[in-house]
Amino acid sequence: MKIIRNIEALRAVVASSKKERKTIGFVPTMGFLHEGHMALVKAAKAENDIVVMSIFVNPTQFGPNEDFESYPRDEARDTSLAEQNGIDILFLPSVETMYPESLTATIHAQKRVSVLDGATREGHFDGVLTVLAKLFHLVQPDGAYFGQKDAQQVAVVQGFVADYFLPLKVRVIPTVREQDGLAKSSRNVYLTEQERADAPVIHMALRRARMEVKEKDKTRVLANIRAIVNQKKTHEKIVYLDMYQYPSFEPVEDWEKPIIIAICVQYSKARLIDNEIIGGA
Ligand code: AMP
Repeated sequence: MKIIRNIEALRAVVASSKKERKTIGFVPTMGFLHEGHMALVKAAKAENDIVVMSIFVNPTQFGPNEDFESYPRDEARDTSLAEQNGIDILFLPSVETMYPESLTATIHAQKRVSVLDGATREGHFDGVLTVLAKLFHLVQPDGAYFGQKDAQQVAVVQGFVADYFLPLKVRVIPTVREQDGLAKSSRNVYLTEQERADAPVIHMALRRARMEVKEKDKTRVLANIRAIVNQKKTHEKIVYLDMYQYPSFEPVEDWEKPIIIAICVQYSKARLIDNEIIGGA
């Protein structure tokens, strides 16, 4: 595995891979790797000649009161996991490498972002798209791999890639969970013991809602999820809970088309998100 920290070295390996006509699968992450990330790697390996992973905690996608500083980081552990999982190129840029100057232009997300994380994390998706624009230009992937856990991110990235005719496939990988159903997340390490014991209720409530959607009563479906989650007492609050058509994130009008139920729960030190997509593929 090659570890690369600067732009010139990355450009050089990408250029030589392209020259050899190797396809490139790209897995952008913020590190503190877990099996969710590795499911993306596995798909990328299966579909490409080489796999590039980036680990970069991107400051521009964090708001001023969010957890940029405290986001879990462990480069030694990540490097060894990346190596074990067969990554070819691990890109570990610093903030100065990715943002050497203040930006002349940023990418502004304007569709699919008026709700959920777009509404509660101001500027979040602008930061995500801006860093992805940089990374896509550098890595020139044939396919980029994203997790369904961040479903709104997937929808925004798919829209961006289509808008700008970017020559890459966006591949979406199902959410990898702990045995008790909790979605794997780097932020899970910040749950207290009791919060960790309670947090699987999020997935449990969403799963149960799957059955109730047949009755086409949005208010009831959401009220039931809220009631189940709130049976546990350790979380601070439900930051959002709502349902939309997927992937448009427009209000539910056609119950036969794919619907997403998305939730965000704030614990003392961790903000967890999860979702369930009902119908469609
Ligand atoms: P992150 O490092 O949290 O920014 O995540 C990097 C990528 O891994 C994103 O595309 C996430 O959606 C994806 N990912 C994170 N957690 C999971 C999971 N539990 N299952 C599948 N993909 C995930």
